[in-house]
Amino acid sequence: MNLIILGAPGSGKGTSATVLREKYSLAHISTGDIFRSNIKNGTPLGLEAKSYMDKGALVPDSLTVSMVEDRLSQDDCKSGYILDGFPRTIAQAEALEEMLAKKGDKIDAVLSIIVDDEIIKDRVSSRRVCEKCGASFNVRFKPTKVEGVCDLCGGNVIQRADDNEETVAARLETYYKNTQPLIDFYDKKGLIVEGNNNVDADKCIADIESGLKTKGII
Ligand code: ADP
Ligand code: ZN
Repeated sequence: MNLIILGAPGSGKGTSATVLREKYSLAHISTGDIFRSNIKNGTPLGLEAKSYMDKGALVPDSLTVSMVEDRLSQDDCKSGYILDGFPRTIAQAEALEEMLAKKGDKIDAVLSIIVDDEIIKDRVSSRRVCEKCGASFNVRFKPTKVEGVCDLCGGNVIQRADDNEETVAARLETYYKNTQPLIDFYDKKGLIVEGNNNVDADKCIADIESGLKTKGII
């Protein structure tokens, strides 16, 4: 099963993607995580991406699209994947269609995570992420068992540089302008499955699984 997960920054799309990757043995392709690991390792791609990410802007397609194409060609993607953070623009969605068509591959469903804006702003400042596996935690709502240590892989759990009030506002704006139109784009193709994450991840995953069952995907 090949999935895309869409949702505003702080909507919990990363958390839902992590649950789904474990449950359905999917490769988890998070473009944000790939950029952050490049920044950490000081690669040329990381250096270039950082200037955009710090402003809450999108990294240019010329960098992002080829990075995803490269990732999708790796072996672990053969048995299914979840794309988290890509596509983020109509142009990226079109580039994705083209690269999948070349391989005779396709997306089975697009998960749309719904959360109210006030809840997002409230959650983001207390969010923490694992540097190693990308799992999300929250010091107020979902703390790690041991402070600073990932429950899943033992990696370092840190606060993201762009999880501050100013950058979050810019990221939300970028999302509504560039990424929200994708919901309509995929709805017209009959691919959207909704998950409401206003309450908690369990409810959101239950919504998604029921939508995937209705479509006969699981
Ligand atoms: P969130 O969705 O919570 O903002 P991500 O980890 O998905 O977080 O992305 C963090 C940042 O990485 C984005 O604000 C953007 O600068 C960059 N980024 C991630 N994915 C893409 C993409 N597909 N296209 C362009 N920029 C991206
Ligand atoms: Zn981890």
